[in-house]
Amino acid sequence: MTADSNSIAGAVRGVRERMAAAAKRAGRDAAEIQLVAVTKTVAPEALRAAYEAGVRHFGENRVQEWEAKAPTVAGLEGVVCHMIGHLQRNKARRAVALFQRIDSLDTLALAQKLEESAAEAGAVVPVLIEVRLSAEPAKSGIDPESLDRLGESLLGCAHLDWQGLMTVPPWSEDPEPARPYFRLLRELNERLRARLGRPFPVLSMGMTHDFEVAIEEGATEVRIGTAIFGRRPKPPQVT
Ligand SMILES: *Cc1c(COP(=O)(O)O)cnc(C)c1O
Repeated sequence: MTADSNSIAGAVRGVRERMAAAAKRAGRDAAEIQLVAVTKTVAPEALRAAYEAGVRHFGENRVQEWEAKAPTVAGLEGVVCHMIGHLQRNKARRAVALFQRIDSLDTLALAQKLEESAAEAGAVVPVLIEVRLSAEPAKSGIDPESLDRLGESLLGCAHLDWQGLMTVPPWSEDPEPARPYFRLLRELNERLRARLGRPFPVLSMGMTHDFEVAIEEGATEVRIGTAIFGRRPKPPQVT
């Protein structure tokens, strides 16, 4: 084992301990909360180390980046790859081939493309709807007012299996300001269950700096990059 894989194993252990402590505080069973390791900018060897440390769910933001890295873990027992970044319609087919779940579905047009691609592939593709709960214009995600309509359309898509909701609240150093957003996502989920008469078991919310608060508010999945793989290089500034 290299020093690097040792430190990743230690980091995974640390995150799991914090997840368990947060679950306990909320009177929840830690076993019902899934860890998704977020791998953007992370080297293939580090993915492998995370797998060896017991990680089975991986989240990536870009189709192209995952095409290059997926082979390091994609064939391994139990691996589930999640698309968690903004997905362009013209990459829907590639995404269906690469990922076991699309967590960032946010428009009807994308849903239609995914449905077509899944049908072509003879597959049923699990999806989450990404909801944008703040007014930040740069964020992706559907507005809560449009959620019901998109959801109803999804229920008509025979090749998409809608499993729940995902959100990314506005970033702040302190995790507490994120709490109302997490709570709101859970409430939206409960409202959908009541309105549509079926459960949506997955609530994907919480990242490195706020996952414990998300778990206290009902997250069933947390998406963690930095706390496992270390800090990412800053993306190049577009000028
Ligand atoms: C990068 C990213 C994460 C993980 O962020 P960290 O702060 O590094 O844990 C989670 N979700 C999405 C959608 C991301 O883009």
